[in-house]
Amino acid sequence: MRCEDVASHTDFWHLSAIPAVAVDLRYAGADNFVGRDLYGTLDCAWVHHLAGAGLRRAAALLEERAPSHRLLVLDALRPHRVQVQLWNHLAGTELRQYVADPARGSIHSFGMALDLTVLDPQGRELDMGSGYDEMTELSHPQLEARHLASGALTPAQHGNRLLLRQALEAGGFKGIANEWWHFEMLDRQHVRQHFTRVE
Ligand SMILES: [Zn+2]
Repeated sequence: MRCEDVASHTDFWHLSAIPAVAVDLRYAGADNFVGRDLYGTLDCAWVHHLAGAGLRRAAALLEERAPSHRLLVLDALRPHRVQVQLWNHLAGTELRQYVADPARGSIHSFGMALDLTVLDPQGRELDMGSGYDEMTELSHPQLEARHLASGALTPAQHGNRLLLRQALEAGGFKGIANEWWHFEMLDRQHVRQHFTRVE
């Protein structure tokens, strides 16, 4: 399916239809690791309805745990053509571990993965200890115990990550080992085999 046709497909929900969730797609502007707008005129504020329902549950859980805080979606549906650009941008670097090989396909391209952070009641992003798409070990959830022990990550920053993670897990998402901001729904292989990739 082409990204241009997603709006007419009932499997996808627009993020604006999900209450209490803020959206700032970083690849739709120059504030990203590539340094330019990758989405252009494409509207990428879409998710598969299964991820959309999970996001709604996550937002409700966050509201319970941290009143007046909101989830901020940083990336959602990422067309395969953009995934190819991200992959090519990192050619010849060791940073490709942070971007799915287009040959396999990113779960973002199925609308089943989300990148997010949390906004405080004043609309400011919580301090997660490292920035979105900061491709260093400080961003790895798997290494948080080590970063806490060394002081690289403060207990407050770790607590902010836990707030995000617990909300998304309550919504049915799973996090990954090397990016605190990335969450996906269902098993990757299952998604790649049974869901429609957006090109
Ligand atoms: Zn992601």
